[in-house]
Amino acid sequence: MNSDKQKFVEAARCGLKWLEVQAERKSAGQWKHEILKRVCNAVIDSSGDRVSFIAKDIYESEKEQESGSQLNKEFRRFGKILDSWAESFNEVAMDYGFSVYLSGKLLRPVQHNVLELYVRKIDSSATVSKDKIPQGHIRYTVWERKALPRWQQRLLNRDMGVGTHLFLAATFLLVPIVALIYAVALGFLTYYQPTIWNVSIFIGVICVEFFVLRGIYEFWYFHDRKIMMLPIQFTPLEQPPTALVMRGEKDKRWPVIHAMATSAECILCDGTVFLRKESHYRYRVIGACNRHPTEHRFTFDYTNMLGKVLAD
Ligand SMILES: [Zn+2]
Repeated sequence: MNSDKQKFVEAARCGLKWLEVQAERKSAGQWKHEILKRVCNAVIDSSGDRVSFIAKDIYESEKEQESGSQLNKEFRRFGKILDSWAESFNEVAMDYGFSVYLSGKLLRPVQHNVLELYVRKIDSSATVSKDKIPQGHIRYTVWERKALPRWQQRLLNRDMGVGTHLFLAATFLLVPIVALIYAVALGFLTYYQPTIWNVSIFIGVICVEFFVLRGIYEFWYFHDRKIMMLPIQFTPLEQPPTALVMRGEKDKRWPVIHAMATSAECILCDGTVFLRKESHYRYRVIGACNRHPTEHRFTFDYTNMLGKVLAD
C-alpha cells in the first residue's frame, strides 16, 4: 500500500472515531452520519483505493433506491457540508493521535454529483489535545453545526468575495436611507390622518426598523472586532449559542466568516460553559457556565479554543 492510500485509510479511521465521539454527545444517528460511516468504511475496505463516490455507491439496498431523488439530494447536501466539519474533525484527530482527517468536494462533471475525497493534515495550532490543556484553562469543543438556512450558508464559512462585499455595502448604505424615508413618510401620514390604524402602523414600523438597524450596526462593527454572537433568532435549534468569527486565511484574498458553535466543561463545577455576550463590556464574547453564569466565567480565545477563568 503506498503512503497516499495509507493516508486515506487513516483519515477514514479518524472519521469513524469522530462518529463514536459524536454518539457520546447524543447527536448521532442523523442521515449525515450514516453517509459518513458508509464512506469511511468504503475507503477502509478498499485500502484507500476508492476516494470518489456517486450517490449510487452510498445507497445500496433496493428499498433505498426507490426514492432516488431524495437520496440524491441528501448526498449532494452531504458533499457540501463535509468541509464544514473540519474544525471538529481536527479536534478529534488531535485527541486520538491521527495525523490526517477527511475532507471532500462535490464535483458535477456531467450527470451525477461526484464526491471527491481528500485528506487534510491536522492543524496543531488550532487547538490543543484534551490531555494537554494548560492548568486553569478550559478547552472549547467545536460542535458539529446543524444545517443552516441557505442564505446563511452563503455568508458563512466561505471566502467573502466581491459579491458578498457589494451586498453588504449596499445593505449598509441603502437600508438606513430607506428606513428613514419610510419613517418620515409614515410620520407625516399619521400627523395628517391620525387614525388608530395609522398610529399602530407607525409604531410597528418604528419598532421593526429599530431592530433591523441595530442588527446592521452590530454587523458593521463586526469588521473591526472580528467576533460577534450570532443573533439567537438565526441560531438553529439544538445548536448552542454560536459566535461568528471573521479571519483572514492563507491564500485567500478576502476574510472568511466562520460560525463557531462551541461549548466547554466547567473546571469549577460540573456545569457546561456556553458562549454569550458579556453584559458589562458590550462587544466581548465570553464563556459562562450554565450552573453559575455570573461567577464561573471564562475568556474565549478562538485562535486556540482555550479559555481561562475571568477574574474581575
Ligand atoms: Zn461552573
